[in-house]
Amino acid sequence: MLTGKTALVTGSTSGIGLGIAKALAAQGANIVLNGFGDVDGPTAEVAALGVQVAYHGADMSRPEEIEALMRFAAQRFGRVDILVNNAGIQHVSRIESFPPERWDAIIAINLSSAFHTTRLALPAMQAAGWGRIINLASVHGLVASAEKSAYVAAKHGLVGLTKVTALENASSGVTCNAICPGWVLTPLVQKQVDAKAASLGLSNDEAVALILGEKEPSKTFTTPEELGALAVFFCSPAGNNVRGVAWNMDGGWVAQ
Ligand code: NAD
Repeated sequence: MLTGKTALVTGSTSGIGLGIAKALAAQGANIVLNGFGDVDGPTAEVAALGVQVAYHGADMSRPEEIEALMRFAAQRFGRVDILVNNAGIQHVSRIESFPPERWDAIIAINLSSAFHTTRLALPAMQAAGWGRIINLASVHGLVASAEKSAYVAAKHGLVGLTKVTALENASSGVTCNAICPGWVLTPLVQKQVDAKAASLGLSNDEAVALILGEKEPSKTFTTPEELGALAVFFCSPAGNNVRGVAWNMDGGWVAQ
């Protein structure tokens, strides 16, 4: 379905981003990967799906590096047809002890980077008359949890940016939507499981059960593969008039 198209997925060396990159590649899209850590493994996993893969290591907290990433993607593949703003980090602390530099980093990576990639990707999408922008928000773009001030603020902001992007392009073939997962067992969440286990003297399984039990009625994790399938739907013809939604995939978290 996506043969001949190019998808740029930020923060795609791990977790949800890699899952979405593989789901789009399975539909034939060429992929631009981005993120830190191991690059060869994710590149090989995507290339095994028979598409072209490129990698750029832009730090998504730095606008000038984001500009270099967007130039790289355009030079390598002509243009970005599908932009998935996925890079994100977390820090858990009450506001009065929240380190200001962590606040700045979360706002930069989880929110401002999507503004920069979007402003740079839109002109070519508009000229082509087709584009898909998918923002990885979170249930925390819809509701809050204590001790996640920067993350909740950034994700609510990202849902707002999603709506504005959708509206400004509503009469064109460019759509913008947000995906709002509940718990997904990635390195970002494993850190929170480890912290809970250490602070309460629990095993890993006990900490997982506690974390899921607090918020997620299904008591199961959403998977990167399920989120990838939702991204594929947004890119399908059935998604042509899906604009500005914040679609939670959260085991019932936000229904409570
Ligand atoms: P992860 O830690 O597995 O992956 C994060 C990715 O972002 C990695 O590839 C990492 O290298 C990259 N990254 C981090 N900082 C970066 C930077 N400055 N520049 C470029 N890349 C950077 O995390 P994940 O759980 O897969 O999270 C992906 C997205 O999904 C995030 O936006 C996160 O907020 C969101 N999300 C996650 C969950 C969850 O339960 N895991 C739930 C809701 C939303």
